[in-house]
Amino acid sequence: GSTLEIKNLHVNIEGNEILKGLNLTINGGEFHAVMGPNGTGKSTLASAVMGHPKFEITEGSIHFDGKDVLEMEVDERARAGLFLGMQYPSEISGVTTSDFLRSSINARREEGDQIPLMKFIKEMDNTLDYLEIDKNMAQRYLNEGFSGGEKKRNEILQLMLLKPEIAILDEIDSGLDIDALKVVSKGINKLRDENFGCLIITHYQRLLNYITPDHVHVIMQGRIVKSGGPELAQRLEAEGYEWIKTELGIED
Ligand code: ADP
Ligand code: MG
Ligand code: MG
Repeated sequence: GSTLEIKNLHVNIEGNEILKGLNLTINGGEFHAVMGPNGTGKSTLASAVMGHPKFEITEGSIHFDGKDVLEMEVDERARAGLFLGMQYPSEISGVTTSDFLRSSINARREEGDQIPLMKFIKEMDNTLDYLEIDKNMAQRYLNEGFSGGEKKRNEILQLMLLKPEIAILDEIDSGLDIDALKVVSKGINKLRDENFGCLIITHYQRLLNYITPDHVHVIMQGRIVKSGGPELAQRLEAEGYEWIKTELGIED
């Protein structure tokens, strides 16, 4: 499996330091959850790893299988096998979901080894079925007019077809009803194997009832301040975040 190694990451947005020395290593085969109160930098972490230009990395390093991610262009990061499922996926007018998926898959393959159209269609149709997505969605422009739930299912469709080495899923559970949550979780769980590592960013413990993480981390004030197993997420659900603040002497 692959390894994503984030060390002492400091990230500024418009001159404000949001991440202040974050350390996190994700190996193939591992599911990690990052939890934390709103506004603590969870999405900033995801955007910084994927190379969003607004996020300025002022200190620290990110390596993917030993390669310096910060030296890689955004599309190179995706081609190398990093995947980001965004909290707010953007709409792409004029590009159908199907075309987008096929070109994303092909971007990860050699020029002489593009996925045959029929094979792609078959894989896509099977995955649409698996995720209980209406087949017509594949012919609609990517995310355009999609409901919140449809966008999230679509992210998992991308994830299952692209088969990245490491995925970062930012609040993939937000706005989902229970049936959609189950389907999304089913898709993520199906990917579990030694060659797939996943970082699940979530504000709520609910998703973790369906996807059991190996490691749970709490982010506060721009750093990971506590790590544990699934029991840590359960304690957060029961008691909130205050006890951690007290334990660490953090004030708002
Ligand atoms: P979380 O995902 O944990 O809720 P974010 O990473 O989205 O938190 O935000 C962390 C902080 O950075 C917040 O104070 C937020 O207001 C600020 N921030 C996030 N994105 C931007 C942006 N594009 N421009 C300016 N400030 C931002
Ligand atoms: Mg938020
Ligand atoms: Mg966020």
